[in-house]
Amino acid sequence: MKFDIITIFPEMFNSYFSESILGRAQKEKLIDIETHSLRKYTTDKHQIVDDTPYGGGAGMIMKVEPIFNCVQNIKDVKNKQKNVKTRVILFSAKGKRYTQRDAERLTEYDSLIFICGRYEGVDERVAEYIADEEISIGDYVLTGGEVPAMVLIDSVSRLIPGVLGNVKSLKEESHRNVRNIQDNKITKLIKEQQIQQAKRYLEYPQYTKPEEFNGWKVPKVLLSGNHKKIKDWRQKH
Ligand code: SAM
Repeated sequence: MKFDIITIFPEMFNSYFSESILGRAQKEKLIDIETHSLRKYTTDKHQIVDDTPYGGGAGMIMKVEPIFNCVQNIKDVKNKQKNVKTRVILFSAKGKRYTQRDAERLTEYDSLIFICGRYEGVDERVAEYIADEEISIGDYVLTGGEVPAMVLIDSVSRLIPGVLGNVKSLKEESHRNVRNIQDNKITKLIKEQQIQQAKRYLEYPQYTKPEEFNGWKVPKVLLSGNHKKIKDWRQKH
């Protein structure tokens, strides 16, 4: 399994992944982890990866272009190999909550590309057009997607045959698939979780320059300068 991590802080990963089980798994070539410094995919002299949000508001938003360039570059390399099943994942506090079931599902891919956000988040066009899914590791807000990337790599890797010394460890573990729970109990649990989630506010989609990239446009209302309309649109989302 190959993990590609897109980040503005590639050094953060060195220590965690060089130790213990994941360090050994890399040496044994069971997994391969590569970081990609997002700034290298900018086209300006200052290697700027963020800009102010359309429609106003606090903080900076990560731009779509460098992320697009970086993902394309990684995919171009993969396209030279045969039948690489790839999934692009964007980390976001408003994404689908990650569970052991997702870890199991993701082992079906040969390659996972992770996009780590920073600042106030990532231009929504990344979620709309570049990522295959948006994942949150829990109902709280972190400073960036680097810890979520470590969480996913750790939880997916240990399910790959050979990574754990003792396969029996996986058999009776927490969160393993529970086949003997009746379906109606599961439906009830899911409903309860959805109700809890619905009670919380998630942030509205954010966009930054350029107004149009690759034919992907910023919603007109955010360019209107009409504060009431922008507020209503954001509330709705
Ligand atoms: N303004 C955003 C919001 O209210 O949802 C939070 C942005 S956060 C400060 C910066 C980045 O950290 C996000 O773009 C995302 O990549 C990552 N992040 C923060 N919390 C996360 C979580 N619970 N799960 C996954 N990624 C998270």
